[in-house]
Amino acid sequence: MIEQYNQTTLEKALSLLAEGHVIGMPTETVYGLAADATNDIAVARIYETKDRPSFNPLIIHVDSIEMARQWGIFTPLAEKLARIFWDTHPSSLTLVVKRNNDRLSHLVTAGLDTVAIRIPFHPVALELIKKFGKPLAAPSANRSNHISPTSAEAVESDLTDRIKLIINGGACTVGLESTILDVTGEVPVLLRPGGTTTEAIETIIHHPIIRESKNSDEIRPKAPGMMKRHYAPSIPLRLNAKTPHPGEAFLACGKTIVNQNAMLNLSETGNLTEAAANLFRMMRQLDNAAHKGIAVAPIPNTGIGLAINDRLSRAAASE
Ligand code: AMP
Ligand code: MG
Repeated sequence: MIEQYNQTTLEKALSLLAEGHVIGMPTETVYGLAADATNDIAVARIYETKDRPSFNPLIIHVDSIEMARQWGIFTPLAEKLARIFWDTHPSSLTLVVKRNNDRLSHLVTAGLDTVAIRIPFHPVALELIKKFGKPLAAPSANRSNHISPTSAEAVESDLTDRIKLIINGGACTVGLESTILDVTGEVPVLLRPGGTTTEAIETIIHHPIIRESKNSDEIRPKAPGMMKRHYAPSIPLRLNAKTPHPGEAFLACGKTIVNQNAMLNLSETGNLTEAAANLFRMMRQLDNAAHKGIAVAPIPNTGIGLAINDRLSRAAASE
């Protein structure tokens, strides 16, 4: 399953990615579990492979600023940081910017209007992304709550039988996750400290960075420029609904006797991977002021259904 990086391995990796599979990819920070960031099913497989109990937005990996601009909106501040930390001084810095199209999976950004982007400074990852021509979503290649892997062997011991290919690109040189900076607002906000220090960034931009507090995932941001980390629809969400009330849109899962206009089905066959893949896109489609709310059918609480229910209950509580 571990394969040394060469032309044959590259070809194999590209066809697996094109078919919507996940693969182990070396980067300078840690090994990533990579999949096509434009393919909802492929992204759902990332969560499944990791046994992630919740859908957190993932970082997309690009090979250049040019590719980054195709998927996110770069304000002058974002552009400046990208040019310095992605070009002049290649660093492990992730920039959160506004999404700019619908081709990127909505599962990758967990329903948010923003996307986290970085360039991995590892020749294998860069070559793979360049040849693939599209961004790769890639969280660390370990099971949820396990340690991030910094070698191909570590990926294999954690994910044996769950992935078809791990490209061996040697040991990771940084071994630490990337720094994440939200640059969607007027002021940059540090979402996660990492390899690139805040001091280095502040020196460049001549402006202090806002440091988001710990467990910020659970906190509604207060400072200017900070934004919600979780997607919640603008109309009420009612969970475990067998049928919609009058005026409600309906988000079904599996067979249903409901038949109305404002209705979408996460998966007609009740396939949970497909349901996960469709979740955020369909919630957003039904999130329309013309409806009183969205009634959501019960989702089995097994496998990736756990992550779906976690997200739905957060969205219903609209924290
Ligand atoms: P990982 O890929 O597991 O290293 O984690 C990605 C990190 O990036 C998580 O902490 C996410 O919450 C954060 N992240 C990704 N996308 C966004 C976004 N659009 N807005 C805010 N945080 C993000
Ligand atoms: Mg991780």
